[in-house]
Amino acid sequence: MSATEDFVRTIRDVVGDEPFVGLHVPHIADLEKQRVQECLDSTFVSSVGAFVTEFERGIADFTGAGHAIAVSNGTSALQVALGLAGVGAGDDVIVPTLSFVATANAVAHAGARPYFVDSDESTLGLSVEAVKEVLRAARVTPEGLVNAATDRRIGAIVPMHTLGHPMCIAELVAVAGEYGVPVVEDAAESLGSTVGGRHTGTFGLLGILSFNGNKILTTGGGGMILTDDDELARRARHLTTTAKLPHRWEFEHDEIAYNYRMPNLNAALGVAQLERLPRFLADKRRLAARYQQAFAETADVEFLTEPVGTESNYWLCGVRVSGGLSARDGLLEAANDAGLQCRPFWNLLHTQVPYRHLPHAAVPVAEALHASVVCIPSSPALAAA
Ligand SMILES: *Cc1c(COP(=O)(O)O)cnc(C)c1O
Repeated sequence: MSATEDFVRTIRDVVGDEPFVGLHVPHIADLEKQRVQECLDSTFVSSVGAFVTEFERGIADFTGAGHAIAVSNGTSALQVALGLAGVGAGDDVIVPTLSFVATANAVAHAGARPYFVDSDESTLGLSVEAVKEVLRAARVTPEGLVNAATDRRIGAIVPMHTLGHPMCIAELVAVAGEYGVPVVEDAAESLGSTVGGRHTGTFGLLGILSFNGNKILTTGGGGMILTDDDELARRARHLTTTAKLPHRWEFEHDEIAYNYRMPNLNAALGVAQLERLPRFLADKRRLAARYQQAFAETADVEFLTEPVGTESNYWLCGVRVSGGLSARDGLLEAANDAGLQCRPFWNLLHTQVPYRHLPHAAVPVAEALHASVVCIPSSPALAAA
């Protein structure tokens, strides 16, 4: 059997023989329909409503964050969180080049510029060693730490927990703390992932989640800002609701702000999904275990497991294949032809049109990961196949 046939057969053994198997399909059941119907019946469909409060409380409880502020999507959450962390015009923000474009876009929307850094082979996340190199070379000035490669202040570091696998977040926060640089965690993919029992997104000064349709929990579109800091939470709420001062009828606003609050209709969907999240997580772990076992005998294909000391939500299951880009693309073509929706990693951010003119660090590990990782069908419902 050829390597591509072997790859397709191994995935089919796990997911069954449905003609088309999507990469990640949301699981919507009667509970979601009930909650959304209740919301419609209440007429409170927009950004004021009880479901928003209930969803925020639920996420704060689930993650252990002191505060959770629901917003329109993960990108707007990250933009606002960066601003609250003190990132401003002219700053650099350290970002892994191996991430979804939203991570870099949020930095740009906050007025700053991403400075792309390498990833770690074993966690797929931002390399702490690579960050240390940038920080060590930086100059200490009255304005803050200045990136030696760009002469710009380093405003923040944004680690990302790739595919749901936690990066070395405690170590990164410790290093960043030594240099006085805030950490804002992009935990868009890692709802349900923990390190030593502590939830990803709660290690940095602020963290963000995404509830886009392809994430482990969806609100259609949505995001969340997490923080333990009372004042930052108050500011996040104010800034995402047009900075309106509370009053029974007057429209008084005390700064230029955003209309980024999550509508109640989306939060109703979120409340139902959150109730079912423990089940999604258990199903995903079973699916991951089955893939791991299935790929154990496949030559040249290695299933990506959660880093030691962490628990991953296995948002997207992935494998690492040898043979470079042509081998990767051969498997992608065969799997997609066979009705198995498989995807590579995002093209690296330092190569994307809006960012490729920017200076960046050396990124050999990210390049190797990009050329070798294939994401395979990961819907929680597949655990029942
Ligand atoms: C999904 C995602 C986001 C946020 O996306 P939205 O679609 O704006 O909710 C941010 N970063 C990463 C790494 C993501 O995967």
